[in-house]
Amino acid sequence: MDFNLYGWGRTKGFISKISEPKNLKELTKVSKNTKLIARGYGRSYGDSSIQNKLTVITKNLNAVIKFDSKKGIIEAESGCDIKKLLNIVLPKNWILPVIPGSKFISLGGMVASDVHGKNHHNEGSFRNHILEIKVINDKGYLICNKIKNKDLFNYTIGGMGLTGIIYSCKFKLKKISSNNIFQETIKSYNLKDTIKLIKKSSSWDYNVAWVDTSSGGNSIGRSIVFRGNHLKNKDKSINVEFLNKKKIRLLFNFPSWIMNKYVIKLLNSIYFIFQSNSKKEINLENFFFQLDKIHSWNLVYGNSGFTSYQCSFPQKTSYQAIKTILQILNSNKVFSFVSVIKSLGKGSRFLSFGKKGLTVVFDFPNYKNLKKVLVALDDIVIKYNGDIYLVKDSRISQKNFSKTNINFKSKYFKLLRKKYGKRFNSIQSTRLGI
Ligand SMILES: Cc1cc2nc3c(=O)[nH]c(=O)nc-3n(C[C@H](O)[C@H](O)[C@H](O)COP(=O)(O)OP(=O)(O)OC[C@H]3O[C@@H](n4cnc5c(N)ncnc54)[C@H](O)[C@@H]3O)c2cc1C
Repeated sequence: MDFNLYGWGRTKGFISKISEPKNLKELTKVSKNTKLIARGYGRSYGDSSIQNKLTVITKNLNAVIKFDSKKGIIEAESGCDIKKLLNIVLPKNWILPVIPGSKFISLGGMVASDVHGKNHHNEGSFRNHILEIKVINDKGYLICNKIKNKDLFNYTIGGMGLTGIIYSCKFKLKKISSNNIFQETIKSYNLKDTIKLIKKSSSWDYNVAWVDTSSGGNSIGRSIVFRGNHLKNKDKSINVEFLNKKKIRLLFNFPSWIMNKYVIKLLNSIYFIFQSNSKKEINLENFFFQLDKIHSWNLVYGNSGFTSYQCSFPQKTSYQAIKTILQILNSNKVFSFVSVIKSLGKGSRFLSFGKKGLTVVFDFPNYKNLKKVLVALDDIVIKYNGDIYLVKDSRISQKNFSKTNINFKSKYFKLLRKKYGKRFNSIQSTRLGI
């Protein structure tokens, strides 16, 4: 059957055939000849988990295969989501080592995009914690780790599904002893201060800055910096009730005009003004998953959807690059409400996103002048030696892409794909000529 599949940004739908295998046996039998791409929960914002010919959805492959609660090692099928994993590991005082901003993300999606959290400065990306993955491609069912099928292991993590379908992943967990985080909130009044504060927070477990994109002039880059440490609470097991509380769910699209530039600008100013410096204990849900508070929040942007843009810059160029980006947005009156700066500790390897330095991300309503403005941002990314996060992308041109994430265009990766099956292709990879 044909389905109209969207990315989380809901900008454009693509008619696709889908398959939803129920177990490993069915997964290994999924069409051996057609072009296909794997898809978890479609939380990537653009077209990276869609293939018209065949999109293989992993949501039924969601079993935990083995959890060693003594050693803190878990292996699960790729369709298992973060919420389920946390429900299993938290009561035994373990937590995922890297947690992106939503718990409705599959393990396969975490591996394929090599996600990062608010602790990249300490823990790096998810890659650093993965022990083994099992992948299905034209060479069969392959166990991959740092010794066996090493290249496939290295290039599947962060490889956007282009080397085959990830069946499962085994990774290390992190010990914790409380379901609360001690959070400090500090206001900064310009980009220099923001970056200074982020750097000063490098000894904290987590840190992140929300940026007010409405402010210009001397206060460009003013932000609210959040930093947090796991609380230590001896011998207490963690109650996961907070994870499973019912959420508000949007059931219909808002009219697109609601999220116009005036509203977004106003929301930015109000949020900045009403935040004050504070210190408090909050639970893990409130610290990690602010955006999950409203289920299907992407519907607030209406029928025309929204466009996300995330890039990273090396330490040396990040201040100038991010300042220029904020100036371009300001002068074109292109405002975003979900705008965040995070520090990236270790540089990316193989195909993974992220230069050692800073990453910045924005969500824009599809303003009339947005396409032109985003091309101007691409130029800044190229000029300052940055890269683009592919799971957020829905629009970059082949020409601009080829000047950024160059490992995707390398001869080596081409050869690897030839070996394991060039038919693993998304609409995005075709658009980008990967
Ligand atoms: C609210 C929100 C907050 C987010 N915050 C962060 C963040 O803080 N840090 C961060 O790094 N990311 C973040 N993301 C992005 C998210 O982590 C990635 O897009 C992730 O890949 C989504 O998982 P998914 O299961 O929805 O994957 P999908 O969107 O379905 O797929 C994403 C990519 O993974 C591939 N893939 C999925 N499953 C498999 C599989 N089994 N085998 C092979 N390839 C597969 C797809 O082909 C595609 O290329 C956020 C997304 C949202 C919606």
